[in-house]
Amino acid sequence: MRSLSVFGATGSIGESTFDLLQRQGGRAAFRTVALTGGRNVARLAEQARALGAEVAVTAHEECLAELRAALAGSGIAAAAGTSALLEAADRPADWVMSAIVGAAGLAPGFRALAHGATLALANKESLVTAGPLLLAEAARHGARILPVDSEHSAVFQALVGEDIAAVERIIITASGGALRDWPLERLVQASVADASRHPNWSMGQRITIDSASMFNKALELIETHEYFGVAPDRIEVLVHPESIVHALVGFADGALMAHLGAPDMRHAIGYALNWPARAPLPVARLDLAALGRLSFQAPDPLRWPALRLAREVMASGGTAGAVFNAAKEVALDSFISGQVGFMDMSGLVEATLDKMVARQSLGKAATSLDMVLQTDAEARAVARALIGQNKD
Ligand code: NAD
Ligand code: MG
Repeated sequence: MRSLSVFGATGSIGESTFDLLQRQGGRAAFRTVALTGGRNVARLAEQARALGAEVAVTAHEECLAELRAALAGSGIAAAAGTSALLEAADRPADWVMSAIVGAAGLAPGFRALAHGATLALANKESLVTAGPLLLAEAARHGARILPVDSEHSAVFQALVGEDIAAVERIIITASGGALRDWPLERLVQASVADASRHPNWSMGQRITIDSASMFNKALELIETHEYFGVAPDRIEVLVHPESIVHALVGFADGALMAHLGAPDMRHAIGYALNWPARAPLPVARLDLAALGRLSFQAPDPLRWPALRLAREVMASGGTAGAVFNAAKEVALDSFISGQVGFMDMSGLVEATLDKMVARQSLGKAATSLDMVLQTDAEARAVARALIGQNKD
């Protein structure tokens, strides 16, 4: 029986994963090792009971008593905190879903590679902050990383049976997010609620706001570069409001292979769960005649400066990705808490990158996970100090 763990089981990706696991036989079909979550301890316990997990872990120490109580009599172990998350990652499992949001997802996924697991990677921040290290760790242990981001799963599928050397370009699409049709000058007034209404995808709040600011696509540009090893100038972003075409791969002969599907993450998760086979999945089937038309447009650089920043980060290489992601997380926290405006986020990220360049700490490749985490912490401190300065 296949064993598995889900990190971030109570989130949007985690719930979709849980749904597929239940549909594909649940505890009769899989041996669940670890499930992890945050403050929604009641839901974590419910999932752990349903799948008969060995251990359930909450990220927060103060939630441990509640988790223990919710699991009483089940025989399922309860644990809490960062070290417990890492211990859960050390428990061997054949398939591990990495669906914690943010840089917090890096270390557990990295640790899971050590037992040669297949890592289904939704946590794009892992590749943005530590791509080369993560891929080297997978290679060292004979582990496999399968992309779960919809665009990257689409590219991965378009490449089946192809030679990566024949790839001329990769195009990832972006819906444009909640504020795509707002007049540019109004964007400075966008509230958290405005930015949190995604037109097509139902996702966690953070990635939804990142979609509106295009920071999500910026991260995905870097993710594409790191995962597929394709040069940055061969990776393009196309705004596609319908979110039906997830990505396209252009080959040396001019052929363009597109991946189409309903905007439902259960496709990409299910592909990674059943790979290399394809299993029936409960996603809506497309009716192209009913859709009628699909539209595409070039992204507006004034509206979405995050895309330019991502290109600068790829040009810098080294630890720039870790700085970029950390600064973006601080900027997003500050937007959500009302400290900075929607259009201030990119300026804050750019200023953080500039400061870190001045410290000459960018450009050098990270040689260890600790170095990445240290860069992440340093960049967060710089970004927070910049916000403090702006308030004076
Ligand atoms: P979410 O906010 O809905 O869920 C995040 C999960 O991680 C929850 O279980 C939460 O409890 C846990 N978590 C949050 N902070 C944590 C921390 N510091 N330590 C440990 N656990 C923590 O997020 P999501 O939308 O499911 O996204 C998860 C990841 O997948 C992100 O990296 C996101 O970019 C990526 N992703 C999501 C989607 C989507 O459709 N939601 C699509 C593509 C990629
Ligand atoms: Mg995506």
